[in-house]
Amino acid sequence: MLKFFGVFGNPIKHSQSPLLHNCVFSHKMHELGFFGIYRRIFLPQENLLRAYFENLSLSGANITLPFKEAAFRQCDEVRGIAKEIGACNAWVKEDSRIVGYNTDAEGFYECVKDYDLKTALIIGAGGAAKAIAIMLQKHRIRTIIINRSAPRLQYFADKGFECALRNELNANLIFDIVINTTSAGLDDESLPCEKLLLERLLGNAKYAFDVIYGKESAFLSLAKSLGVEAQNGRDMLIFQALLAFERFCGGSLERDKILQLMRTMI
Ligand code: NDP
Repeated sequence: MLKFFGVFGNPIKHSQSPLLHNCVFSHKMHELGFFGIYRRIFLPQENLLRAYFENLSLSGANITLPFKEAAFRQCDEVRGIAKEIGACNAWVKEDSRIVGYNTDAEGFYECVKDYDLKTALIIGAGGAAKAIAIMLQKHRIRTIIINRSAPRLQYFADKGFECALRNELNANLIFDIVINTTSAGLDDESLPCEKLLLERLLGNAKYAFDVIYGKESAFLSLAKSLGVEAQNGRDMLIFQALLAFERFCGGSLERDKILQLMRTMI
C-alpha cells in the first residue's frame, strides 16, 4: 500500500523534511505496513492549503513558512499545545477529518528538557518564538521576549509575557538560556541584537540556543567564544520531524530507531 505525505511552504525548495521522512519510510516499510512517499509542495496562496491537501490525497503533511497560522485555521480539530500557540506545523488525516498539531514547540523542548532552566530570554517574536515561548511558559520557565520592532510583541503581551524592544531590555537581567529565534545570521554573519548587549547576556547565561540549522550562526559562535553551552536548531528540526512522523504513522516504530535514521540524513 502507498501513502502520500508532503510539506507545504512558499518558498519550499530549501526544506529538508523529505530527506528525514523518506529515509524512515524506505527503511521501515515492512514494519509500517505501507510505503510512504513524502515530497515538497509549493503552495502559491494560503487559502489553497486544504484543497491541495485533499486533492493530493495526503495522509499527513507538514506546514512551514508562511502558512502555519493558516494551517491552524483550516483544519477540523487542533490538538495539544498548538491550541495555545495558534499555529500548526503538522496535519494528520483521521478518517475524513484533518487534525492539526504543533511539533515545533515539542521538538524544541526535547532539545532543552535536560537543562536546568528557570529563566529564558527569547530574541525575536515570529512563529518560532511563539512556539518556544508557549512551551517554556507551560513548563513554568520565566520567559522574556525582545524584538527589533514592536508589532509582533503584542501577541506575547496578550499572553502575559514580559516583552521589550531589544534596545530597551533592562540591563540588569540575567537569564539561564538565551534563544535566538530571528533569521539574523541565516544568510549572513549578522547578530540578532547589539554585540555588547549579547556579550553581557551570553556571558551571564548557562546555555545558548539558535533555531537556525545547517550552519554555525554568528550568535552561536559568539556564545561558544564566551564558554556558553551552545546548541543549533538541527535537533529541533529532527525532533519536530520525528514527532510529526509518529503522528503520521501511529507511533508504531521505536523512537530511537527513527531518530537514528533521521540523524544520518542531515
Ligand atoms: P518569522 O518571519 O515569523 O519571524 C522572524 C523574526 O526574526 C521576527 O521577530 C523578526 O523581527 C526577526 N528578524 C528578522 N531578521 C532580523 C534581523 N536581521 N535582526 C533582528 N531580528 C530579525 O520567522 P520564524 O519565526 O517562523 O522563523 C525564524 C527562523 O527560525 C528561521 O530561520 C527558520 O528557518 C527557523 N526555524 C527553525 C526551526 C527548527 O526546527 N530548527 C523551526 C521553525 C523555524 P521583526 O518582527 O522586527 O520583523
